[in-house]
Amino acid sequence: MDTQIFRMTPEEIDAQAIKSCAEIIKSGGLVAIPTETVYGLGADATDADAAAKIYAAKGRPSDNPLIIHIAAPEDAERYAHTSPLYYKLAKAFMPGPLTVILPKKDIIPSGVTGGLDTVAVRCPSHKVAHALIEASCVAIAAPSANLSGSPSPTSAEHVIADMNGRIDAIIDGGQCEIGLESTIVKLEGETAIMLRPGAITADALGCVCEKVEIAAAVTELLGENERPLSPGMKYKHYAPAAPLVLLEGEDDAVADFLVAAQSRENCAILGYSEEMPLLNNKNIIDVGARDDLATQAQTLFSALRETNSMSVDVIYAHLPTQNGLGLALYNRLIRAAAHTIKHID
Ligand code: AMP
Ligand code: MG
Repeated sequence: MDTQIFRMTPEEIDAQAIKSCAEIIKSGGLVAIPTETVYGLGADATDADAAAKIYAAKGRPSDNPLIIHIAAPEDAERYAHTSPLYYKLAKAFMPGPLTVILPKKDIIPSGVTGGLDTVAVRCPSHKVAHALIEASCVAIAAPSANLSGSPSPTSAEHVIADMNGRIDAIIDGGQCEIGLESTIVKLEGETAIMLRPGAITADALGCVCEKVEIAAAVTELLGENERPLSPGMKYKHYAPAAPLVLLEGEDDAVADFLVAAQSRENCAILGYSEEMPLLNNKNIIDVGARDDLATQAQTLFSALRETNSMSVDVIYAHLPTQNGLGLALYNRLIRAAAHTIKHID
């Protein structure tokens, strides 16, 4: 398949290209789209055959449901049963990086929701994504636009690497601002249960909901027979080619360990900016300053991809804090590392 590539910026939307991509969506095709979180692989959310093409293009297990993307919070009415808490969250966080799980209506085929009777709804703030959803006149089902198991794409280059020749079109809208996927919540009464952490933090949710719970699978390894609240949580994710080991310990001790590791092992290091002057520059990636979680979020997935072109035996990275945006970084990194943590004394 020939994949068309369209280039535009949020400031200068190419209306003609959006129209062409909306036609692709309406006729059951696949378009990769930039969003503020990561790139999504979009199809008509009401078309079971189009959704099936997403699973085929990604190699995604069919029980892992898709998020549907809408142009305005109230558009959820067409696809799902909303609630007052949904609208409270929408008022605070939409458009933006928050996904809410709601009971689905029949218009959403079960092939989109992995057979579940709920559907995940998000209203992205990215102007290009918004323009395409509006022009398509339908919700767009879109998981991250990577091959299943590889890091989510945060630039069009990542999407091209994974999807060129497998989908109809890619819209290159530059680098994603946030770099990690949306926060996902399930609602129970006045409680929001966080199924996946993202840029909308537990503290931010707590300003709107009476109670916020964090699902165990966000930070812990599920037992073999345990069922996660979100099917996606049971899959290995973002796995780089070499094993990833997360380091925990005092800053100085970890920095000393990294310096020693470089002379002892064939390793890659995802280090803080402050550590860069201490290390020799072979196979090191600066993920941002120690306290700059936003930059670390923006860099994480491209850093993991970059390690794939380094022939190393092991990759070291820092175990992030679980506070604020750190929880999202922690969640992605422990899964990429298959929960391998090394304590440094
Ligand atoms: P991705 O599109 O790659 O960001 O993955 C979407 C995530 O949303 C996966 O982890 C899914 O398990 C989760 N998800 C989508 N729909 C539902 C749902 N109805 N209930 C629970 N989790 C969902
Ligand atoms: Mg994904």
